[in-house]
Amino acid sequence: MRYLVESAGRVPKRDICRHLRRSSRSVECKAYHLRKEGVPVDLRHHEPRLSSCPACGRLSGRMGRDGFCEPCRRRAQLAEVHAKIAELMALLPPEERATYEATEAEVESRRDPMPPPPPTAGLSYYARARAEEAHELACEEALTRNLMREVKAAQKRKERVEKKVRSMRV
Ligand SMILES: [Zn+2]
Repeated sequence: MRYLVESAGRVPKRDICRHLRRSSRSVECKAYHLRKEGVPVDLRHHEPRLSSCPACGRLSGRMGRDGFCEPCRRRAQLAEVHAKIAELMALLPPEERATYEATEAEVESRRDPMPPPPPTAGLSYYARARAEEAHELACEEALTRNLMREVKAAQKRKERVEKKVRSMRV
């Protein structure tokens, strides 16, 4: 019984049956009775759909072909734009740079809050794993949206500095 409760959802049903030397019907029957007693047993096997990103360690459902999660790819993109801005800023005379930095510091992009973790108490392993995955995905999406806004803001900033640099040359 303990094996059944601990393995349900983690191990495919056929392996549970094999381990217990019981028929599928008998195992299902036992699970049904356990549920009736309030033990959350769900025999559906949960196969993890998320993989962990080697760069940030977060679980991701949007791993890129480069092997990194979407937020990491956006962070790399942001770093590139920032590097370009720094290059351009170096071309401005110090007083221009100071004025520019003072005004740009006020510009802040909007941020979505991270979704709160789902309540998982009393859920079967299967239901909990599904809820946790959905939460990880929602967090990844919010994080990606926030980073995309930052990238967009940085790109606009880069364009403004570029314009400034060009006007100084004329
Ligand atoms: Zn990552």
